Amino acid sequence: MRSARSSPRTGRRVVRFDLPSSRFVDTDTRADAWAVIGADRALRWRELAQAADAWAQRAREHGFAADVPVIVRGHKEAAFFVAMTGALLLGAPFVPVDTIYPDERLRRIAQTLGARIVFDAAADAFVPLNVASDARHARDDSERCAARPLREKSLAYVLFTSGTTGEPKGVQIGRESVAALADWMAADFALGASPVFLNQAPFSFDLSMYELFGTLALGGTAVLASRQLTARRSAFLDTLARHRMTTWVSTPSFAQQQLLDPAFSQQGLPALATFLFCGEVLPVTLAKQLRLRFPAARIINTYGPTEATVASTSIVVDDALLAQHARLPVGYAKRGAAVFVDRGELCIAGPHVMRGYLNREDLNEARLFMHDGQRAFRTGDLGAVESDGLLFCHGRIDDQIKIGGYRIELMEIDAALRALHGVSSAAAVPLRRPDGSVARIVGFVATGAGDGRLPDALRDWKARLAERLPPYMIPSELLACASLPVTVNFKIDRARLAENYRDAHLKAQH
Ligand code: AMP
Repeated sequence: MRSARSSPRTGRRVVRFDLPSSRFVDTDTRADAWAVIGADRALRWRELAQAADAWAQRAREHGFAADVPVIVRGHKEAAFFVAMTGALLLGAPFVPVDTIYPDERLRRIAQTLGARIVFDAAADAFVPLNVASDARHARDDSERCAARPLREKSLAYVLFTSGTTGEPKGVQIGRESVAALADWMAADFALGASPVFLNQAPFSFDLSMYELFGTLALGGTAVLASRQLTARRSAFLDTLARHRMTTWVSTPSFAQQQLLDPAFSQQGLPALATFLFCGEVLPVTLAKQLRLRFPAARIINTYGPTEATVASTSIVVDDALLAQHARLPVGYAKRGAAVFVDRGELCIAGPHVMRGYLNREDLNEARLFMHDGQRAFRTGDLGAVESDGLLFCHGRIDDQIKIGGYRIELMEIDAALRALHGVSSAAAVPLRRPDGSVARIVGFVATGAGDGRLPDALRDWKARLAERLPPYMIPSELLACASLPVTVNFKIDRARLAENYRDAHLKAQH
Protein backbone atom coordinates (compact mmCIF):
# COMPACT_ATOMS: atom_id res chain seq x y z
CA MET A 1 0.00 0.00 0.00
CA ARG A 2 1.56 3.30 -0.99
CA SER A 3 2.20 5.84 1.71
CA ALA A 4 1.58 3.15 4.34
CA ARG A 5 4.17 2.90 7.07
CA SER A 6 4.52 -0.67 5.98
CA SER A 7 6.15 -3.06 8.38
CA PRO A 8 7.56 -6.29 7.04
CA ARG A 9 5.64 -9.48 7.58
CA THR A 10 6.32 -10.75 11.04
CA GLY A 11 7.38 -14.16 9.82
CA ARG A 12 6.33 -15.51 13.24
CA ARG A 13 4.80 -18.94 13.19
CA VAL A 14 1.59 -18.93 15.21
CA VAL A 15 -1.51 -21.07 15.14
CA ARG A 16 -3.71 -19.90 12.31
CA PHE A 17 -5.98 -21.15 9.55
CA ASP A 18 -4.16 -21.58 6.25
CA LEU A 19 -6.64 -20.62 3.55
CA PRO A 20 -4.94 -22.22 0.50
CA SER A 21 -4.78 -25.64 2.18
CA SER A 22 -7.93 -25.02 4.28
CA ARG A 23 -6.53 -26.37 7.54
CA PHE A 24 -5.18 -25.18 10.86
CA VAL A 25 -1.37 -24.90 10.90
CA ASP A 26 1.31 -24.34 13.54
CA THR A 27 -1.19 -25.54 16.08
CA ASP A 28 1.27 -25.86 18.96
CA THR A 29 2.16 -22.15 19.13
CA ARG A 30 -0.19 -19.77 20.95
CA ALA A 31 -2.92 -22.41 21.06
CA ASP A 32 -4.12 -20.90 24.34
CA ALA A 33 -4.58 -17.42 22.86
CA TRP A 34 -8.12 -16.20 22.31
CA ALA A 35 -9.44 -16.76 18.80
CA VAL A 36 -13.05 -15.61 19.13
CA ILE A 37 -14.76 -13.55 21.79
CA GLY A 38 -18.39 -14.24 20.97
CA ALA A 39 -21.40 -12.48 22.46
CA ASP A 40 -22.12 -15.69 24.39
CA ARG A 41 -18.77 -17.40 24.98
CA ALA A 42 -15.10 -17.16 24.07
CA LEU A 43 -12.90 -19.75 22.38
CA ARG A 44 -9.16 -20.19 22.44
CA TRP A 45 -7.41 -21.24 19.23
CA ARG A 46 -7.20 -24.85 20.41
CA GLU A 47 -10.95 -24.82 21.11
CA LEU A 48 -11.76 -23.18 17.77
CA ALA A 49 -9.84 -25.88 15.90
CA GLN A 50 -11.66 -28.64 17.81
CA ALA A 51 -15.06 -26.99 17.51
CA ALA A 52 -14.69 -26.31 13.76
CA ASP A 53 -13.70 -29.92 13.19
CA ALA A 54 -16.65 -31.20 15.22
CA TRP A 55 -18.98 -28.80 13.37
CA ALA A 56 -17.79 -30.09 9.99
CA GLN A 57 -18.48 -33.64 11.18
CA ARG A 58 -22.02 -32.72 12.26
CA ALA A 59 -22.60 -30.89 8.98
CA ARG A 60 -21.57 -34.01 7.07
CA GLU A 61 -24.10 -36.05 9.06
CA HIS A 62 -26.79 -33.60 7.93
CA GLY A 63 -25.91 -34.13 4.28
CA PHE A 64 -23.57 -31.19 3.73
CA ALA A 65 -20.43 -31.77 1.68
CA ALA A 66 -17.96 -29.90 -0.49
CA ASP A 67 -19.72 -27.37 -2.76
CA VAL A 68 -23.07 -27.77 -0.95
CA PRO A 69 -23.92 -24.33 0.45
CA VAL A 70 -24.73 -24.05 4.14
CA ILE A 71 -26.79 -21.17 5.50
CA VAL A 72 -25.51 -19.98 8.87
CA ARG A 73 -27.98 -17.85 10.76
CA GLY A 74 -27.43 -15.91 13.95
CA HIS A 75 -25.91 -12.80 15.43
CA LYS A 76 -22.43 -12.66 16.90
CA GLU A 77 -22.44 -16.06 18.61
CA ALA A 78 -19.09 -17.87 18.87
CA ALA A 79 -20.89 -20.73 17.07
CA PHE A 80 -21.40 -18.46 14.04
CA PHE A 81 -17.63 -18.07 13.72
CA VAL A 82 -17.09 -21.79 14.34
CA ALA A 83 -19.62 -22.67 11.62
CA MET A 84 -17.95 -20.45 9.01
CA THR A 85 -14.56 -21.97 9.87
CA GLY A 86 -16.01 -25.49 9.86
CA ALA A 87 -17.58 -24.83 6.45
CA LEU A 88 -14.14 -23.82 5.13
CA LEU A 89 -12.73 -27.11 6.47
CA LEU A 90 -15.52 -29.03 4.79
CA GLY A 91 -15.28 -27.13 1.50
CA ALA A 92 -18.95 -26.15 1.81
CA PRO A 93 -19.58 -22.50 0.86
CA PHE A 94 -21.11 -20.71 3.86
CA VAL A 95 -24.01 -18.31 3.43
CA PRO A 96 -24.07 -15.90 6.38
CA VAL A 97 -27.51 -14.55 7.30
CA ASP A 98 -27.72 -12.22 10.30
CA THR A 99 -30.93 -12.18 12.35
CA ILE A 100 -31.37 -8.58 11.17
CA TYR A 101 -32.94 -10.25 8.10
CA PRO A 102 -36.58 -11.24 8.56
CA ASP A 103 -37.69 -14.88 8.15
CA GLU A 104 -39.21 -14.14 4.76
CA ARG A 105 -35.83 -13.01 3.42
CA LEU A 106 -34.17 -16.12 4.86
CA ARG A 107 -36.80 -18.23 3.08
CA ARG A 108 -36.12 -16.51 -0.25
CA ILE A 109 -32.39 -17.07 0.14
CA ALA A 110 -32.96 -20.72 1.04
CA GLN A 111 -35.22 -21.10 -1.96
CA THR A 112 -32.62 -19.66 -4.31
CA LEU A 113 -30.09 -22.15 -2.92
CA GLY A 114 -32.53 -25.05 -2.74
CA ALA A 115 -31.57 -25.32 0.95
CA ARG A 116 -33.67 -27.36 3.38
CA ILE A 117 -31.56 -27.13 6.51
CA VAL A 118 -30.06 -24.08 8.20
CA PHE A 119 -27.41 -23.92 10.90
CA ASP A 120 -28.90 -21.85 13.73
CA ALA A 121 -25.95 -20.41 15.68
CA ALA A 122 -28.02 -19.38 18.72
CA ALA A 123 -29.30 -22.94 19.18
CA ASP A 124 -25.99 -24.41 17.97
CA ALA A 125 -28.08 -26.81 15.89
CA PHE A 126 -28.99 -27.70 12.31
CA VAL A 127 -32.68 -27.01 11.88
CA PRO A 128 -35.04 -27.86 9.01
CA LEU A 129 -36.49 -25.01 7.03
CA ASN A 130 -40.00 -24.97 5.74
CA VAL A 131 -39.27 -23.83 2.24
CA ALA A 132 -41.41 -24.86 -0.67
CA SER A 133 -38.94 -26.48 -3.01
CA ASP A 134 -38.29 -24.54 -6.17
CA ALA A 135 -40.27 -26.41 -8.83
CA ARG A 136 -37.39 -26.22 -11.33
CA HIS A 137 -35.17 -28.23 -9.03
CA ALA A 138 -37.71 -30.51 -7.37
CA ARG A 139 -36.58 -33.49 -9.40
CA ASP A 140 -33.00 -33.63 -8.12
CA ASP A 141 -33.90 -33.03 -4.46
CA SER A 142 -33.57 -36.23 -2.51
CA GLU A 143 -34.79 -36.54 1.06
CA ARG A 144 -31.28 -36.45 2.49
CA CYS A 145 -30.26 -33.42 0.46
CA ALA A 146 -29.46 -30.50 2.77
CA ALA A 147 -29.13 -28.28 -0.30
CA ARG A 148 -28.17 -28.63 -3.94
CA PRO A 149 -24.45 -28.61 -4.76
CA LEU A 150 -23.61 -25.40 -6.59
CA ARG A 151 -22.48 -25.35 -10.18
CA GLU A 152 -19.50 -23.18 -9.19
CA LYS A 153 -16.93 -25.28 -7.38
CA SER A 154 -14.52 -24.35 -4.57
CA LEU A 155 -16.41 -21.31 -3.34
CA ALA A 156 -15.64 -19.86 0.09
CA TYR A 157 -18.98 -18.15 0.59
CA VAL A 158 -22.12 -16.81 -1.05
CA LEU A 159 -23.24 -13.46 0.25
CA PHE A 160 -26.71 -12.14 -0.52
CA THR A 161 -27.02 -8.45 -1.21
CA SER A 162 -29.93 -6.21 -2.15
CA GLY A 163 -31.35 -6.88 -5.62
CA THR A 164 -33.19 -4.57 -8.02
CA THR A 165 -35.85 -7.19 -8.81
CA GLY A 166 -36.94 -7.35 -5.18
CA GLU A 167 -35.04 -10.62 -4.69
CA PRO A 168 -31.66 -10.55 -2.90
CA LYS A 169 -28.86 -11.65 -5.24
CA GLY A 170 -26.17 -14.15 -4.28
CA VAL A 171 -22.56 -13.08 -4.82
CA GLN A 172 -20.36 -16.18 -5.22
CA ILE A 173 -16.84 -15.72 -3.87
CA GLY A 174 -14.18 -18.31 -4.67
CA ARG A 175 -11.58 -19.66 -2.26
CA GLU A 176 -8.85 -18.09 -4.40
CA SER A 177 -10.48 -14.70 -3.72
CA VAL A 178 -10.38 -15.00 0.06
CA ALA A 179 -6.80 -16.27 -0.09
CA ALA A 180 -5.96 -13.11 -2.08
CA LEU A 181 -7.74 -10.99 0.55
CA ALA A 182 -5.76 -12.57 3.39
CA ASP A 183 -2.46 -12.21 1.48
CA TRP A 184 -3.16 -8.53 0.92
CA MET A 185 -3.99 -7.95 4.59
CA ALA A 186 -0.82 -9.79 5.67
CA ALA A 187 1.46 -8.02 3.23
CA ASP A 188 0.16 -4.46 3.14
CA PHE A 189 -1.99 -3.60 6.14
CA ALA A 190 0.77 -3.67 8.76
CA LEU A 191 -1.63 -4.94 11.43
CA GLY A 192 1.14 -6.38 13.59
CA ALA A 193 1.43 -9.87 15.02
CA SER A 194 -1.86 -11.54 15.98
CA PRO A 195 -4.14 -8.49 15.63
CA VAL A 196 -7.27 -8.19 17.75
CA PHE A 197 -10.16 -7.17 15.49
CA LEU A 198 -13.37 -5.41 16.34
CA ASN A 199 -16.14 -7.21 14.47
CA GLN A 200 -19.25 -5.03 14.50
CA ALA A 201 -20.75 -5.43 11.02
CA PRO A 202 -23.17 -8.35 10.69
CA PHE A 203 -21.63 -11.38 8.96
CA SER A 204 -24.16 -10.88 6.17
CA PHE A 205 -22.33 -7.65 5.29
CA ASP A 206 -19.06 -8.41 3.49
CA LEU A 207 -17.11 -5.81 5.47
CA SER A 208 -17.06 -8.43 8.27
CA MET A 209 -15.02 -10.76 6.06
CA TYR A 210 -12.02 -8.57 6.95
CA GLU A 211 -12.29 -9.74 10.55
CA LEU A 212 -13.12 -13.36 9.74
CA PHE A 213 -10.30 -13.93 7.28
CA GLY A 214 -7.91 -11.52 9.02
CA THR A 215 -8.33 -13.41 12.30
CA LEU A 216 -8.04 -16.82 10.67
CA ALA A 217 -5.09 -16.07 8.40
CA LEU A 218 -3.06 -13.94 10.81
CA GLY A 219 -3.70 -16.00 13.94
CA GLY A 220 -5.50 -13.09 15.57
CA THR A 221 -8.58 -12.60 17.70
CA ALA A 222 -12.07 -11.48 16.67
CA VAL A 223 -14.16 -9.60 19.24
CA LEU A 224 -17.76 -10.01 18.06
CA ALA A 225 -19.78 -7.00 19.20
CA SER A 226 -23.52 -7.64 19.18
CA ARG A 227 -26.16 -4.95 18.58
CA GLN A 228 -27.08 -5.22 22.27
CA LEU A 229 -23.49 -4.55 23.28
CA THR A 230 -22.85 -1.63 20.90
CA ALA A 231 -26.08 0.00 22.12
CA ARG A 232 -24.51 0.23 25.60
CA ARG A 233 -21.60 2.41 24.61
CA SER A 234 -19.53 2.31 27.79
CA ALA A 235 -19.87 -1.49 28.14
CA PHE A 236 -18.89 -1.77 24.48
CA LEU A 237 -15.74 0.34 24.85
CA ASP A 238 -14.85 -1.48 28.10
CA THR A 239 -15.06 -4.80 26.28
CA LEU A 240 -12.76 -3.57 23.53
CA ALA A 241 -10.28 -2.17 26.04
CA ARG A 242 -10.32 -5.37 28.09
CA HIS A 243 -9.43 -7.47 25.05
CA ARG A 244 -6.77 -4.97 23.94
CA MET A 245 -8.39 -4.47 20.55
CA THR A 246 -5.81 -3.30 18.00
CA THR A 247 -7.78 -3.11 14.76
CA TRP A 248 -11.05 -1.24 14.46
CA VAL A 249 -13.10 -2.37 11.45
CA SER A 250 -16.37 -0.62 10.66
CA THR A 251 -18.13 1.70 8.30
CA PRO A 252 -17.32 5.38 8.82
CA SER A 253 -20.93 5.90 10.00
CA PHE A 254 -20.43 3.57 12.95
CA ALA A 255 -17.19 5.28 14.02
CA GLN A 256 -18.93 8.65 13.70
CA GLN A 257 -21.55 7.58 16.26
CA GLN A 258 -18.83 6.63 18.76
CA LEU A 259 -17.39 10.15 18.74
CA LEU A 260 -20.31 11.21 20.93
CA ASP A 261 -18.54 9.43 23.79
CA PRO A 262 -15.40 11.18 25.13
CA ALA A 263 -14.09 7.77 26.27
CA PHE A 264 -13.74 6.87 22.59
CA SER A 265 -10.12 8.00 22.59
CA GLN A 266 -6.55 6.77 22.57
CA GLN A 267 -6.59 6.83 26.36
CA GLY A 268 -9.75 4.70 26.51
CA LEU A 269 -8.49 2.27 23.85
CA PRO A 270 -4.70 2.35 24.25
CA ALA A 271 -3.98 -0.71 22.05
CA LEU A 272 -5.94 0.63 19.07
CA ALA A 273 -3.38 1.01 16.26
CA THR A 274 -5.46 0.91 13.06
CA PHE A 275 -8.85 2.07 11.83
CA LEU A 276 -9.82 0.01 8.81
CA PHE A 277 -12.74 1.55 6.95
CA CYS A 278 -14.76 0.37 3.98
CA GLY A 279 -18.29 0.40 2.64
CA GLU A 280 -19.06 4.09 2.16
CA VAL A 281 -17.47 7.52 1.81
CA LEU A 282 -14.99 8.34 4.58
CA PRO A 283 -15.74 12.02 5.32
CA VAL A 284 -12.74 14.32 5.79
CA THR A 285 -14.35 15.71 8.96
CA LEU A 286 -14.53 12.25 10.55
CA ALA A 287 -10.93 11.41 9.64
CA LYS A 288 -9.77 14.71 11.14
CA GLN A 289 -11.65 14.10 14.38
CA LEU A 290 -10.19 10.61 14.63
CA ARG A 291 -6.67 11.98 14.07
CA LEU A 292 -7.21 14.26 17.08
CA ARG A 293 -8.70 11.57 19.32
CA PHE A 294 -6.29 8.84 18.27
CA PRO A 295 -3.01 10.54 17.33
CA ALA A 296 -1.11 7.23 17.40
CA ALA A 297 -3.54 5.26 15.19
CA ARG A 298 -3.40 4.87 11.42
CA ILE A 299 -6.54 5.31 9.37
CA ILE A 300 -6.91 3.18 6.25
CA ASN A 301 -9.63 3.98 3.74
CA THR A 302 -10.51 1.02 1.55
CA TYR A 303 -13.04 0.75 -1.23
CA GLY A 304 -14.80 -2.02 -3.10
CA PRO A 305 -18.05 -3.85 -3.69
CA THR A 306 -19.05 -7.24 -2.25
CA GLU A 307 -18.58 -8.58 -5.78
CA ALA A 308 -14.81 -8.08 -5.43
CA THR A 309 -14.24 -9.63 -1.97
CA VAL A 310 -14.51 -6.75 0.50
CA ALA A 311 -12.09 -4.22 -0.99
CA SER A 312 -9.96 -3.48 -4.02
CA THR A 313 -8.15 -0.25 -3.16
CA SER A 314 -6.59 1.30 -0.08
CA ILE A 315 -4.78 4.35 1.20
CA VAL A 316 -3.49 5.53 4.55
CA VAL A 317 -5.27 8.74 5.47
CA ASP A 318 -2.63 10.89 7.13
CA ASP A 319 -2.51 14.62 7.86
CA ALA A 320 -0.86 15.41 4.52
CA LEU A 321 -3.63 13.65 2.60
CA LEU A 322 -6.28 15.40 4.69
CA ALA A 323 -4.73 18.77 3.93
CA GLN A 324 -4.82 18.03 0.20
CA HIS A 325 -8.37 16.83 -0.39
CA ALA A 326 -11.87 18.08 0.32
CA ARG A 327 -13.16 14.61 -0.66
CA LEU A 328 -10.86 11.72 0.10
CA PRO A 329 -9.50 9.40 -2.59
CA VAL A 330 -10.18 5.68 -2.19
CA GLY A 331 -6.53 4.87 -2.83
CA TYR A 332 -4.54 2.63 -5.11
CA ALA A 333 -5.46 -0.77 -6.54
CA LYS A 334 -4.43 -3.65 -4.31
CA ARG A 335 -1.62 -5.94 -5.40
CA GLY A 336 -2.55 -8.42 -8.10
CA ALA A 337 -5.59 -6.36 -9.12
CA ALA A 338 -6.37 -3.67 -11.66
CA VAL A 339 -8.85 -0.89 -10.93
CA PHE A 340 -9.56 1.44 -13.82
CA VAL A 341 -12.13 3.84 -15.16
CA ASP A 342 -14.06 2.87 -18.28
CA ARG A 343 -16.37 5.57 -19.67
CA GLY A 344 -16.63 7.11 -16.22
CA GLU A 345 -17.33 3.82 -14.42
CA LEU A 346 -14.95 2.14 -11.98
CA CYS A 347 -14.06 -1.39 -13.07
CA ILE A 348 -12.14 -3.99 -11.09
CA ALA A 349 -10.13 -6.94 -12.38
CA GLY A 350 -8.32 -9.64 -10.45
CA PRO A 351 -8.58 -13.02 -8.76
CA HIS A 352 -10.74 -11.47 -6.05
CA VAL A 353 -13.60 -10.69 -8.46
CA MET A 354 -16.63 -12.93 -7.85
CA ARG A 355 -17.38 -16.02 -9.91
CA GLY A 356 -20.78 -14.54 -10.67
CA TYR A 357 -24.24 -13.93 -9.20
CA LEU A 358 -26.00 -17.18 -8.39
CA ASN A 359 -28.53 -18.11 -11.11
CA ARG A 360 -28.44 -14.62 -12.62
CA GLU A 361 -26.88 -15.07 -16.04
CA ASP A 362 -28.52 -11.84 -17.20
CA LEU A 363 -26.61 -9.81 -14.60
CA ASN A 364 -23.41 -11.78 -15.09
CA GLU A 365 -23.48 -10.96 -18.76
CA ALA A 366 -24.04 -7.28 -18.10
CA ARG A 367 -21.50 -6.82 -15.29
CA LEU A 368 -18.71 -9.38 -15.73
CA PHE A 369 -16.07 -9.40 -18.45
CA MET A 370 -12.45 -10.42 -19.01
CA HIS A 371 -9.62 -7.91 -18.72
CA ASP A 372 -6.03 -8.97 -19.49
CA GLY A 373 -6.95 -12.57 -18.77
CA GLN A 374 -8.55 -11.83 -15.39
CA ARG A 375 -12.17 -11.73 -14.22
CA ALA A 376 -13.43 -8.16 -14.20
CA PHE A 377 -16.51 -6.41 -12.82
CA ARG A 378 -18.31 -3.17 -13.70
CA THR A 379 -19.07 -1.62 -10.31
CA GLY A 380 -21.76 0.92 -11.19
CA ASP A 381 -19.65 3.49 -9.32
CA LEU A 382 -18.62 6.73 -10.97
CA GLY A 383 -14.88 7.16 -10.72
CA ALA A 384 -11.81 9.11 -11.64
CA VAL A 385 -8.13 8.25 -11.66
CA GLU A 386 -5.05 10.45 -11.46
CA SER A 387 -1.93 9.84 -13.53
CA ASP A 388 -0.18 7.95 -10.72
CA GLY A 389 -3.15 5.59 -10.29
CA LEU A 390 -4.82 7.35 -7.35
CA LEU A 391 -8.53 6.53 -7.53
CA PHE A 392 -11.65 8.44 -6.54
CA CYS A 393 -15.24 7.23 -6.19
CA HIS A 394 -17.86 9.84 -7.01
CA GLY A 395 -21.14 8.06 -6.22
CA ARG A 396 -23.40 5.79 -8.23
CA ILE A 397 -24.60 5.56 -11.80
CA ASP A 398 -27.76 3.74 -10.69
CA ASP A 399 -30.31 3.68 -7.85
CA GLN A 400 -28.13 1.87 -5.32
CA ILE A 401 -27.64 3.79 -2.07
CA LYS A 402 -25.92 3.37 1.27
CA ILE A 403 -27.42 4.06 4.67
CA GLY A 404 -25.00 3.70 7.55
CA GLY A 405 -22.89 1.58 5.21
CA TYR A 406 -25.75 -0.81 4.37
CA ARG A 407 -26.17 -1.37 0.66
CA ILE A 408 -29.70 -0.90 -0.64
CA GLU A 409 -31.24 -1.12 -4.11
CA LEU A 410 -34.12 1.35 -4.05
CA MET A 411 -35.95 -0.92 -6.49
CA GLU A 412 -36.01 -3.66 -3.85
CA ILE A 413 -37.92 -1.32 -1.54
CA ASP A 414 -40.17 -0.26 -4.46
CA ALA A 415 -41.07 -3.93 -4.99
CA ALA A 416 -41.94 -4.39 -1.30
CA LEU A 417 -44.07 -1.20 -1.35
CA ARG A 418 -45.88 -2.35 -4.49
CA ALA A 419 -46.81 -5.58 -2.73
CA LEU A 420 -48.79 -3.60 -0.11
CA HIS A 421 -52.57 -3.73 -0.35
CA GLY A 422 -54.13 -1.37 -2.92
CA VAL A 423 -50.83 0.07 -4.18
CA SER A 424 -50.52 0.40 -7.94
CA SER A 425 -47.05 1.93 -8.14
CA ALA A 426 -44.44 2.96 -5.60
CA ALA A 427 -41.08 4.63 -5.14
CA ALA A 428 -38.53 4.77 -2.34
CA VAL A 429 -36.93 8.20 -2.29
CA PRO A 430 -33.64 8.93 -0.50
CA LEU A 431 -33.37 12.28 1.28
CA ARG A 432 -29.79 13.45 1.17
CA ARG A 433 -27.67 15.65 3.40
CA PRO A 434 -25.70 18.49 1.83
CA ASP A 435 -22.62 16.19 1.53
CA GLY A 436 -24.66 13.71 -0.55
CA SER A 437 -25.00 11.00 2.12
CA VAL A 438 -28.48 9.59 2.66
CA ALA A 439 -30.19 10.69 5.89
CA ARG A 440 -33.39 8.64 5.45
CA ILE A 441 -35.80 7.13 2.96
CA VAL A 442 -39.36 8.24 2.32
CA GLY A 443 -41.81 5.91 0.57
CA PHE A 444 -44.38 7.15 -1.95
CA VAL A 445 -47.29 4.99 -3.04
CA ALA A 446 -49.91 5.63 -5.70
CA THR A 447 -53.25 4.54 -4.35
CA GLY A 448 -55.60 6.30 -6.74
CA ALA A 449 -56.88 8.72 -4.07
CA GLY A 450 -55.54 12.23 -4.41
CA ASP A 451 -55.79 13.65 -0.90
CA GLY A 452 -52.36 12.43 0.28
CA ARG A 453 -53.74 10.49 3.23
CA LEU A 454 -52.91 6.84 3.65
CA PRO A 455 -55.92 4.58 3.19
CA ASP A 456 -56.91 2.52 6.25
CA ALA A 457 -55.73 -0.66 4.54
CA LEU A 458 -52.18 0.69 4.72
CA ARG A 459 -52.18 1.50 8.45
CA ASP A 460 -49.91 -1.45 9.23
CA TRP A 461 -47.49 -0.75 6.36
CA LYS A 462 -44.41 -0.81 8.60
CA ALA A 463 -45.26 -4.22 10.03
CA ARG A 464 -45.99 -5.57 6.53
CA LEU A 465 -42.66 -4.29 5.17
CA ALA A 466 -40.81 -5.67 8.21
CA GLU A 467 -41.93 -9.16 7.20
CA ARG A 468 -39.83 -8.80 4.09
CA LEU A 469 -37.16 -6.16 4.58
CA PRO A 470 -34.46 -5.62 7.21
CA PRO A 471 -35.04 -2.55 9.44
CA TYR A 472 -32.50 -0.38 7.62
CA MET A 473 -34.53 -0.69 4.37
CA ILE A 474 -37.85 0.43 5.84
CA PRO A 475 -38.80 4.02 4.94
CA SER A 476 -39.23 6.40 7.85
CA GLU A 477 -42.50 7.76 6.35
CA LEU A 478 -45.05 6.64 3.79
CA LEU A 479 -47.00 9.13 1.71
CA ALA A 480 -49.88 8.44 -0.64
CA CYS A 481 -50.56 10.24 -3.92
CA ALA A 482 -52.93 9.82 -6.83
CA SER A 483 -50.08 8.96 -9.21
CA LEU A 484 -46.29 9.20 -9.26
CA PRO A 485 -44.41 11.60 -11.56
CA VAL A 486 -42.32 10.00 -14.32
CA THR A 487 -39.23 11.10 -16.25
CA VAL A 488 -39.06 11.43 -20.04
CA ASN A 489 -38.04 7.75 -20.10
CA PHE A 490 -41.17 6.86 -18.13
CA LYS A 491 -39.17 5.90 -15.06
CA ILE A 492 -40.51 7.09 -11.72
CA ASP A 493 -38.94 10.48 -11.07
CA ARG A 494 -37.34 10.07 -7.64
CA ALA A 495 -35.55 13.41 -7.85
CA ARG A 496 -38.84 15.23 -8.40
CA LEU A 497 -40.47 13.39 -5.51
CA ALA A 498 -37.55 14.40 -3.25
CA GLU A 499 -37.93 18.03 -4.38
CA ASN A 500 -41.69 17.98 -3.82
CA TYR A 501 -41.14 16.53 -0.36
CA ARG A 502 -38.61 19.23 0.54
CA ASP A 503 -40.83 22.01 -0.81
CA ALA A 504 -43.83 20.73 1.14
CA HIS A 505 -41.74 20.62 4.33
CA LEU A 506 -40.32 24.08 3.80
CA LYS A 507 -43.84 25.44 3.25
CA ALA A 508 -45.07 23.71 6.40
CA GLN A 509 -42.30 25.40 8.39
CA HIS A 510 -43.27 28.92 7.24
P1 AMP B 1 -20.85 -3.19 -0.45
O1 AMP B 1 -21.03 -4.18 -1.54
O2 AMP B 1 -21.93 -3.21 0.58
O3 AMP B 1 -19.48 -3.26 0.16
O4 AMP B 1 -20.96 -1.75 -1.12
C1 AMP B 1 -20.08 -1.38 -2.15
C2 AMP B 1 -20.32 0.04 -2.55
O5 AMP B 1 -20.12 0.92 -1.45
C3 AMP B 1 -19.34 0.50 -3.59
O6 AMP B 1 -19.71 0.09 -4.89
C4 AMP B 1 -19.37 2.00 -3.39
O7 AMP B 1 -20.51 2.57 -4.00
C5 AMP B 1 -19.51 2.14 -1.87
N1 AMP B 1 -18.20 2.25 -1.21
C6 AMP B 1 -17.51 1.26 -0.63
N2 AMP B 1 -16.37 1.72 -0.08
C7 AMP B 1 -16.32 3.05 -0.32
C8 AMP B 1 -15.38 4.10 -0.02
N3 AMP B 1 -14.27 3.88 0.68
N4 AMP B 1 -15.67 5.35 -0.47
C9 AMP B 1 -16.79 5.59 -1.18
N5 AMP B 1 -17.72 4.66 -1.47
C10 AMP B 1 -17.50 3.39 -1.06
